Amino acid sequence: MPQPYDDQNIFAKILRGEIPNDTVLETDHTLAFRDIQPQAPVHVLVVPKGAYVDHADFCANASDAEVLDFTRASAEVCRLTGVIGDGFRTITNSGDHGVQEVPHYHQHILGGRALGWMLAKE
Ligand code: 5GP
Repeated sequence: MPQPYDDQNIFAKILRGEIPNDTVLETDHTLAFRDIQPQAPVHVLVVPKGAYVDHADFCANASDAEVLDFTRASAEVCRLTGVIGDGFRTITNSGDHGVQEVPHYHQHILGGRALGWMLAKE
């Protein structure tokens, strides 16, 4: 069972303006800001403003307008950060196996260097 949305999570506080962020892009339904602990020269988090726990929750329950806005915002972040030519990676972690730390749906956009394999080889 998916967990209920916790409105005290750190991204909810950022979206309410209670914690500062380094904004890259803001649209009607989406906020994109730089990760506080970047793992690549470009590391931006694309976050829907609506209260969605994870990828499955967002994809199943967000409105068409929210999904479209999020998707277009993600593309615009790629353009604004200049990662499109050399390539980049998008990651969405979900739940315990995905090691999702913040329980508000978000997409990582990583680039600016060669990123290596998607997963560590075991
Ligand atoms: P997750 O593991 O949930 O996919 O990733 C959460 C990300 O949020 C991590 O990369 C972490 O560095 C980032 N993060 C956690 N707290 C903050 C914060 O207060 N501000 C920003 N900008 N990023 C944060």
